[in-house]
Amino acid sequence: MTSGPSLAGDHHVHSTFSDDAVSTPAENLAAAQAVGLREVRMVDHVRVSTTYVPEFLAAVRALPTVDGLTVLTGVEAKILDASGAVDAPPEVLAALGTPSGPDRVLLADHQVPGPDGPWSPRSTRARIEAGLDPADVVEMLVTAMVRAMHAVGRAQLAHPFSILPKIGLTEDAVPDDLLDALAAAAVQTGTPVEVNEKWHCPGPRVADRLQAAGVLLVASTDAHEAADVGVYDWVHG
Ligand SMILES: [Zn+2]
Ligand SMILES: [Zn+2]
Repeated sequence: MTSGPSLAGDHHVHSTFSDDAVSTPAENLAAAQAVGLREVRMVDHVRVSTTYVPEFLAAVRALPTVDGLTVLTGVEAKILDASGAVDAPPEVLAALGTPSGPDRVLLADHQVPGPDGPWSPRSTRARIEAGLDPADVVEMLVTAMVRAMHAVGRAQLAHPFSILPKIGLTEDAVPDDLLDALAAAAVQTGTPVEVNEKWHCPGPRVADRLQAAGVLLVASTDAHEAADVGVYDWVHG
């Protein structure tokens, strides 16, 4: 039994810059302080066409300093296809880790990264019903995650395997050798991997295997309102 990620961090918190979230960065900061977090990563959704990132970064960087609380930044983008292409503006990817860019890109499995672009859960289920081997889907997903981590350089794996229940699968469908390939890429690229309160993933088998391989696990709520920042019921430290 290993210990899980530090619950003094929340590495995936959305603000009003995401159109489905309700709290401002300042409200999220106050919530993080109130629950005693030591690290909070403020993150909003992007696509290739998104233009608000400079404004978002300016808003986060204008926040007051809170003693003992480190504020990190990121953008969340889906992995588009099996090549590991990411749905984020190229200039944002180019500026990662510099003063004019976010700290990391959160790589999200919101769709299945197919060879020809993103597959919705519905179309993926239809392909499986029509005879596509689920093992091939899982291998394509993990391969795309590995490629995206290498391509981006400064990533964080958001809620890995949240897509599986949406396509009728569980983490049992991910064999150990693919988890080991995922872990090796995360270690090599210095990519933290979330254990995500909202999506209840990855589960203990996956999280423990990644951590045993040297992957840094980070706790995240994926909060879309300040009341959820840093509040963990499912994630264990
Ligand atoms: Zn997400
Ligand atoms: Zn999110």
